[in-house]
Parts: sequence; C-alpha cells; structure tokens
Amino acid sequence: MGSQRVELGFVEEDAAAWRLRSDQFPCKVGGRPAWLGEAGLPGPAELRCGVCGQPCAFLLQLYAPLPDRTDAFHRSLFLFGCRQPACYRPAGPAPGSLRVFRNQLPRKNDTYSYDPPPEEPPLKELPCVNLQLKCGAQLCRVCGCLGPKTCSRCHKAHYCSKDHQVLDWTAGHKASCSQADQLNIAIPDHKFLFPEYEIVREPEETDSSNINEKKQEDLEKNEESTPADETSESLDVNFLEAMAKHETQDDKIFQKFKERISLEPEQVIRYCRDGGGPIWISGKNIPQEADIPNCSCSGKRIFEFQVMPQLLSHLKVDSLVESIDWGTLAIYTCDENCNLGSHYTEEFIWKQDISSSV
Ligand SMILES: [Zn+2]
Ligand SMILES: [Zn+2]
Ligand SMILES: [Zn+2]
Ligand SMILES: [Zn+2]
Repeated sequence: MGSQRVELGFVEEDAAAWRLRSDQFPCKVGGRPAWLGEAGLPGPAELRCGVCGQPCAFLLQLYAPLPDRTDAFHRSLFLFGCRQPACYRPAGPAPGSLRVFRNQLPRKNDTYSYDPPPEEPPLKELPCVNLQLKCGAQLCRVCGCLGPKTCSRCHKAHYCSKDHQVLDWTAGHKASCSQADQLNIAIPDHKFLFPEYEIVREPEETDSSNINEKKQEDLEKNEESTPADETSESLDVNFLEAMAKHETQDDKIFQKFKERISLEPEQVIRYCRDGGGPIWISGKNIPQEADIPNCSCSGKRIFEFQVMPQLLSHLKVDSLVESIDWGTLAIYTCDENCNLGSHYTEEFIWKQDISSSV
C-alpha cells in the first residue's frame, strides 16, 4: 500500500442537469441512474432488498473505463441501497441491502457516439427526467429502474414494482392518471430518491510531511476541545469526535484512517483498481481473501473503490431514530473484468461499521 495512485471523489452540489445524463458518462450520486448500456439492466428482482424485500434506491455511479480493454472503452459501476436503516445493521458482506453492478461497452456501440461527448450544454433542453431508453424500454417513474409493470388505467405509467406503483399513486398519479399527456411533466416527489450531485474526481496527494503537520494540529485540537453538544456541525465532526473517544485497539487503525483522509476530509470516494486496497476504519470485520467471493465467471475479485462515511451527510438520511449508516463500503469487482453477454454483472460489497459502541 501507499505508493498506488488513489483517485478521490468529491460531491459537487451545483452540477448542471445535462452533465449528469447518460451520454455524458457521469460520475454521480443520487437521482435516477444514468444507465450506460441499455441491454441487460438489472431487473426488479435483482434490485429488491435482500432484507426487507422493498426496491433499493440508486446510490451512486462511477465512470471507470479500462483504457487497455477495447470491450470496456466505456465502463460504469452502479451502486444501489435500501432506504430502510434497519436493513444496514449487519456488518461484513452486504446483506442484500446494498447492490453493485458493472456494465461496459466498446467504443463503437449502438447507443453512444464514437466521438467524445460535447462539453457544451445541448442547444435544446431535454426533459430532465427521462423514463424511456433509446431502445424503447420503459423505466419506473419512481426509481428509474426497469419498469415492466404498467398502470392498469392509463397504461402509460411504468413501475418496477407494486410498491412503487402505490407510492406514485398516492403521491400524485391518482390525480394525473387521466391526463396521460402530462405524465412526464407531473412527476411528484416520492421522497424515495437520494439527492442528486455530480462526483468530481482528482488524484490524491500524499505528502507525508503535510499529514504529520495536520496530525499534530488535530492532536492539539482534540486536547482542548470538550465534546460539543451543538447538533448543527456536520456529521463528519460528530463521527470523528465519537471515534476519538473510543479507546480500544481499533484506535490505531482508526488513527491511520483519519490521518489518510485529513488532507481531504470531504472525500466521499477513494478509487484505486491497481492493487491498493481500501483503508479500513476499524480493526473489526476486515475481510480475508476467502471472504470475497469469486465472480460468476469464476475469476477472482479485486478491490476497486470504497465509499467513505462522509457521503452519508450528503444523502440527508440523518434521523433521530435510526439512520442509514456505514463506516466504509469496499467494492470488489472481477479482476478479469469479464464481459458475460454485455449484461449488468453483479459485483461484491463489503460493509465495515465504524464501531459497535458508537
Ligand atoms: Zn431493506
Ligand atoms: Zn421503481
Ligand atoms: Zn395511470
Ligand atoms: Zn468475471
């Protein structure tokens, strides 16, 4: 570890809507997925939470092409998660409440131009909610995933599931069903999607002298400060404070974690497919090699990126009762980067929690 190049991802709150569309090959959080390939999308069964059975919501996607692979000139990873906090409780292999899919396309394909996408906004503003793929497949009005079910009255509104049909009906389709031409304009807020942001990426700078300086500063700060009872501070601060108080053998690992992120505390993603491995947040629940299952092609899976706890504060999932929570999510993908029929291939997530006592 250490010498591998890590790319960091940060949340950009003010991205123009057109930059988050499929033909821009975006990295983004929340909203509806900007699907890459149109064939073999994960269906309602694959996107159902393995714990509670409800449809998972789109969490984030990363554009991660492999330049030396002609069949992966375009390549994206799509992460989904359940909206129910209780479904996140067990640590370790994600219990079906988190799902990740990989999809890739050659440069020459039926959906996208051979040339790079334009860097200027389109002259004609397209509708921001696109519920139909170019190939004609219809997407769910609530979640933007495949919608094989249709409203039995208007036959124009599509859904992934009964759950989402009910959600849309009560949120507004009941009123707009008879005005079928208004359908795509009249999409109510179902309070199901996570807020949408662009993810911008930049290389991590690891200047060790900076880290040490920063560490010293942090130590001094920690000595002075008493636990604050203001609730307005960001989640990161609360969470760092809580961890700092927790004196166990995890401390060393957490200290390292904190040091590594201290220069760029806003990072939400750490990407490193070339052998770097994730940085763990605690000593508990670190997977052994045998804990990472092989891909369906029987190839080994390798670490590709991790989602940091800082993302939680952007998802607006904080609640007084129980919130969606993780310490870090480590995503492992097929080392061979297999291309089994250009479908969306499910990959593997390992969830590590901050600490049991927090
Ligand atoms: Zn669930
Ligand atoms: Zn849906
Ligand atoms: Zn209808
Ligand atoms: Zn594979």
